[in-house]
Amino acid sequence: MSEKLVIKNIGLLLSGDLEKPILDADTIVVIDGRIAEVGKAAEVDTSGAARTVDAKGTTVAPGLIDSHVHPVFGDWTPRQNQISWIDSFLNGGVTTMISAGEVHLPGRPKDIVGLKALAITAQRSFSNLRPAGVKVHAGAPVLETGMVEEDFKELSEAGVKLLGEVGLGGVKQGDEAKKMVAWARKYGIQSTIHTGGPSIPGSGLIDADVVLEADADVIGHINGGHTALPLDQIRCLCESCGRAVEIVHNGNELAGLYAMRTSMELGQPERIILGTDSPAGSGVQPLGILRMIALLSSIGEVPAETVICFATGNTARMRELDCGLIEVGRAADFVIMDRAQHTAGKDILESIRLGDLPGISMVIIDGVVRCGRSRNTPPAETLAEVA
Ligand SMILES: [Zn+2]
Repeated sequence: MSEKLVIKNIGLLLSGDLEKPILDADTIVVIDGRIAEVGKAAEVDTSGAARTVDAKGTTVAPGLIDSHVHPVFGDWTPRQNQISWIDSFLNGGVTTMISAGEVHLPGRPKDIVGLKALAITAQRSFSNLRPAGVKVHAGAPVLETGMVEEDFKELSEAGVKLLGEVGLGGVKQGDEAKKMVAWARKYGIQSTIHTGGPSIPGSGLIDADVVLEADADVIGHINGGHTALPLDQIRCLCESCGRAVEIVHNGNELAGLYAMRTSMELGQPERIILGTDSPAGSGVQPLGILRMIALLSSIGEVPAETVICFATGNTARMRELDCGLIEVGRAADFVIMDRAQHTAGKDILESIRLGDLPGISMVIIDGVVRCGRSRNTPPAETLAEVA
């Protein structure tokens, strides 16, 4: 028997789609975890709902996607000795995460058999268990010298769909990276490259020449992780290839703003995607994606509804995910929010444009309510309720 969820009284519906970021609709109908109808209350079939959420005139957006995380196993990270960090991100509106490598595993294997085994185990582990309900796409091997085409074929056949950040392992030269990225692409494995100075002792510099030669699908943290390349190299990366421009929380904020502005000037906002690059030395940021949205919208002077697309629809398209857009057939992953209490902004979009974070009142994944009022955001003025 099918399970039906209705979200009614939506005051503002954000689509995640740059072409039309605000939808003229107030009701979403979900059947079996998928968006079945989007429209005005009178136009859609809300009968027989097992559950109804009353948005009370507040804002619904696609669940946020963090394009760059470093998970290990379950809801634990050894990086800052934290547990339940993914649950904390859920309370920051994140419903999907993409691993850029399980690099913090204590004693992480660097031999080829070992790194493949780890990637396959991480892929299985996060496929079998979603911490706090969050969809963590993990199992991202860190490339080491000596890998051959057969290794990528084997990883692909075992279900691995991502590479860890190229440059975090022994492969740091452009020609070697290029060869391995091409093998990965041949077998349907998406790639991201570390961009900028070394992240921690033991890692190395990856400059614009190496990034361009390697030609990975995603220019990982174009604003550094944490040390950024000089701005002329960032401009060169934006201008010289069509790959995704990933801007992260745990990077250089000035360089992040510069990368966004350059992409906008080039008329290519669809290339911009957001991540936190956490857990990391800078910590673990449950509100990292919301903070990026507020930073880029306020100081970067871009409408909030546009920046929200960077963290939803853009990432979904770039990463070939079935979520991230309010569209019939997509996964029913939503964040319900309102302007924070006492913000100077008169509505949620203006409040973000002024640099304030919104207040989250509910997060839904695959049509299932995963959290109510966020324990992490400032309190929302009006809260959605399960009717
Ligand atoms: Zn990195």
